[in-house]
This record gives sequence, C-alpha cells and structure tokens, in this order.
Amino acid sequence: MLTDQELLRYSRQILLQHVDIDGQLRLKNSRALIIGLGGLGAPVALYLAAAGVGELHLADFDTVDLTNLQRQIIHDTDSVGQTKVDSALRRLTAINPEIKLIAHRTALDVDSLAAAVEAVDVVLDCSDNFSTREAVNAACVAAAKPLISGAAIRLEGQLSVFDPRRAESPCYHCLYGHGSDTELTCSEAGVVGPLVGLVGSLQALEALKLLAGFGEPLVGRLLLIDALTTRFRELRVKRDPGCSVCGTQHG
Ligand SMILES: [Zn+2]
Repeated sequence: MLTDQELLRYSRQILLQHVDIDGQLRLKNSRALIIGLGGLGAPVALYLAAAGVGELHLADFDTVDLTNLQRQIIHDTDSVGQTKVDSALRRLTAINPEIKLIAHRTALDVDSLAAAVEAVDVVLDCSDNFSTREAVNAACVAAAKPLISGAAIRLEGQLSVFDPRRAESPCYHCLYGHGSDTELTCSEAGVVGPLVGLVGSLQALEALKLLAGFGEPLVGRLLLIDALTTRFRELRVKRDPGCSVCGTQHG
C-alpha cells in the first residue's frame, strides 16, 4: 500500500494513466542497481529516488573531486573528498527519505558483481570504461536482468536497453564486440554537463518504464545523440546468434 504522504509525493506521476497507483506500487517494490555515480549516475540516482523506486543500490569506489562538479550534479562543493556513495546517500536521503539505499563502496569483482546484479530488478550502467561495461553486461546476461546502458563523451551520446528476458534482444557485446580498453574516458577527452544529464535522464526514464511496466523500451535500438547539431538518430541493433556472451543463452 501507499501512504498518504506517498500518494501526495508521487501524485504528479500517479495522475498519468500509464503509471497510476499500480505502477507506483510496482516502483515501490522495485530495486535498481546504479553502477557509477558520475555524470550519468547522478541524474539516474536523483530521478529514480525522486520517483520512488523502493531500493536503490549504489556502486562506486571513487571519491568526489573538484573536476567532477561541472557535470556530476548529485555532488556538491562540500562533497569534495568524500566517497561518491556517501555524497550521493546524503543528497538522495534529503530528496526522498521514503526509499531504501544500499551502498557498494568498493570495486565489484566478478562474484560481488554477480551478487549485486542478482539482488535487483534492473541495472543501469553509468560507468565510464569498456571493461566495466563488458563485466556488467556479462553479469546481466547470466542473471537475465535488463541492462540500461548509456554513454557520453565530448559532444556525443549513446543509449540502448538490453533485455535478456526477450529472445530478440541483443546484449551489449552483440553491439560492441570486443571494443577497446584504450578508448578515452570523459576525464581524458572532456564532455559537456548537459549532455551526460540528457543521457542519464533518458536512462532513468527507461528504468521507470521497465519497472512500472509502461511504454516501449529502447530494446534492439541504439539512440545516437549529436549535441553539436542537436540531432537524434536511431540504429536498429540485432542479436548476434554467435555472440560469445548471450549466444548460448537462447540456444
Ligand atoms: Zn550478445
């Protein structure tokens, strides 16, 4: 059940016929894992907390640096030097004390990542490097958990949803193959704040749709955002039957 306070707090989204009280209850009973509390994870965590997702599991082993504040809007000047998880806990509790927050302050290895993924209903990859993305994808495929993947660098953003529960859905590896560990991260190549805010907001939106059960998810589609020209493009992405990560899952 929802309390009177919760009905009031979430009233503007409960008003939507796609959410309604049933959808709000589904959000309350949902658990989301956010990997990375940087430029993407900041809006993801803020919006999912504000929307009343019942449990947010926050994973980041980094501390807040002054250079983060240009885009990582969950942190503030007082957070510099704190762990990103503790900084986020403070802010999220201030926004919504009704939800439960679970902290992962150390780097996740294969086993702890598998356990963290198993414990939730949806995973949001807000990390900034290829090896983490590959590891998160493999854990999501193994546990059959939907993965909402976002990326932004310089003035370009990407977004897609991979859902191993759907036979036609590709996984991250189907799309990117072996990639490269030498690719640049935002801290090396630069990025504008509103672009990571945009991609992170879209990740949060996809999570709310999946968890509350409305709309059409961005599965089998890759959204490409060009901030320089403000153009959005969409590519179809197919599952690779020979994919080394998800290929055997569906026979
Ligand atoms: Zn695959």
